[in-house]
Amino acid sequence: MWGMIWRASISQYSKNVFLWVASLLILVACSSSSSPRVEDNERGLVNAQAVTPVLILYPDGPGVFGESNGVSLQAKPKIGSVQLKPGLAYDKSTRSKSKGKDKRDQIGVQALSDVQIQAYSYPDAAQIYAIMLNNLLGRYADVVVTRKAVSAYTAGEANQYYRTFYIGSTYEDPVPPALIADIMAGAKVTWLNYNIWRLDNAAIGASLSRLGLRYVALYPEYQPAEFSTGFNKIDYRGYTFKKYIPGLLEVPIEMIEVAVESPSVVVHAWAKNSAGRQIPYALQSGNFWYVADNPFTYIHEQDRYLVLADLIAPMMGRDITCTPRALARMEDLSPNDQGADLKRMLDALNRVKIPFLATVIPLFVDNNTVPVTQIGWTQNSAALNQLRRIPSIRGRIFQHGYTHQFENLKNPFGISGDDWEFWRVELDASGNRITSTPIPGMTATSALQRIQTGRNILVNLSTRSVNLTPVGWTTPHYEADPGYYATFNQVYNRVMERRIYQVGTVIAGQFFPYPVRDVNGTLMLPETLGSVQPNYLLPMLEEAARANRVLRCPWAGHFFHAYTIDPDYNGPNAYTVAQFEGFLRYVRDTLGYTYVDPTTVTTQ
Ligand SMILES: [Zn+2]
Repeated sequence: MWGMIWRASISQYSKNVFLWVASLLILVACSSSSSPRVEDNERGLVNAQAVTPVLILYPDGPGVFGESNGVSLQAKPKIGSVQLKPGLAYDKSTRSKSKGKDKRDQIGVQALSDVQIQAYSYPDAAQIYAIMLNNLLGRYADVVVTRKAVSAYTAGEANQYYRTFYIGSTYEDPVPPALIADIMAGAKVTWLNYNIWRLDNAAIGASLSRLGLRYVALYPEYQPAEFSTGFNKIDYRGYTFKKYIPGLLEVPIEMIEVAVESPSVVVHAWAKNSAGRQIPYALQSGNFWYVADNPFTYIHEQDRYLVLADLIAPMMGRDITCTPRALARMEDLSPNDQGADLKRMLDALNRVKIPFLATVIPLFVDNNTVPVTQIGWTQNSAALNQLRRIPSIRGRIFQHGYTHQFENLKNPFGISGDDWEFWRVELDASGNRITSTPIPGMTATSALQRIQTGRNILVNLSTRSVNLTPVGWTTPHYEADPGYYATFNQVYNRVMERRIYQVGTVIAGQFFPYPVRDVNGTLMLPETLGSVQPNYLLPMLEEAARANRVLRCPWAGHFFHAYTIDPDYNGPNAYTVAQFEGFLRYVRDTLGYTYVDPTTVTTQ
């Protein structure tokens, strides 16, 4: 039982709220049935309920680069790019056999820049943003999303949907007058970022002033010296979200100022610059909502992306709150692990008495040796004993690849846990990614076969009293050919990770602030905090937990490797057992999150 609490002011959309209440009650009923399996019960419910249609419109023009406030928008090399942040290629795992300086730590640092994927104001990027918004709407089981180019919008179309979102990711992309006219007539529309100025269209009698608004300016702060002074803080529900973190997140910043001219306009979030000037970030004028930048660029754990994600609830007329929940993941258990290392972390989790999940590599491979080294769990009884302990101490098994490397490739090292399994990665001597592509010759079917082979290994490690059948999946290093994921659903529909999505040549990553069923139909469990990296230490995870805590339905999902609390490990992200336990207790006891069993997590 989640302990949902209703907020008072939801009468405006009472019809939909009632539908939603009904689905919640059914969900609770399913969850409390005698069956221990609570899997994907939303699927059936979708058919039993009326669906709630939502329209997402994205720009499909090539974009018109122009001048704004004297700054050429063409000279904005990174604006519009989508940055994946800690956690994406970050589950570096198996300890080097030679303890000491760990090369994986350097990769961890590097990955921050590796994953800055250029996605300019082009149609492919626009469709990626539409997918990301589609995913966020996937928190609601009854919501069915249509994505289409804004140029294909027809008069009155917005009225056929519960809400229409326009993502203005392409500067000066044309907006059909019919959409503008429908907004003026009161259609439920949420507008993100650029082209809001097109609502001032005298030729069709449209004006922002009719919404109580006035376009003021676009503030492009693209020079490094400006990153720290621009509108880089977002105040929302008592927390200051950040577009700029010194040393970690130094990226170009844009903000659009739309002034409020009517007392009926509600400002839900404010953007602030270093001079203390404050302008509306997210505002609502009747049925019309406006968000003053593109929250899908440079998303990270303390970011205004979370503000948009949270505001989807009132935009959809579902302004509810939930008990804060957390997910603890122990990462990369391998047959090459020392039993004592696994025991140390499992003991800590058990002392704190929280449910958790453990991602397990079925077979360890090191193809740097001749012959190739393969280690199975049955060859390492100390580690296997710890693996078999997990179900008895509130742990769930998630499968983590087959070998967490690929055949004879150095991908890039040839070692389980370090390598990618479903994505090709090569590094140069400095650790920069020089190859980042699908693995040549791999198909969704052959990838699926690897998953099934690995799954059988784990299933066969079960005993009469210990069931090690995996109940979920985590993709090694969070990266596979995005075209595989729908196929992966055939084995696992419950996944805890961040995901990459692809349109054309643009690939972008996304983490989810709450459980969603994504565009592939996969139930994605939130991984909101990341893991300790050399440049992303426990205080950052704690800060992310505080950022998420102010949201309506907060989730704190994180993961840890056993080696980071090994007393012999001296990397910058080394912690003591006491510090690890202290973190878990801080999240639970101080911030008030409840750790939950990953198999009980559903969409709303
Ligand atoms: Zn891993």
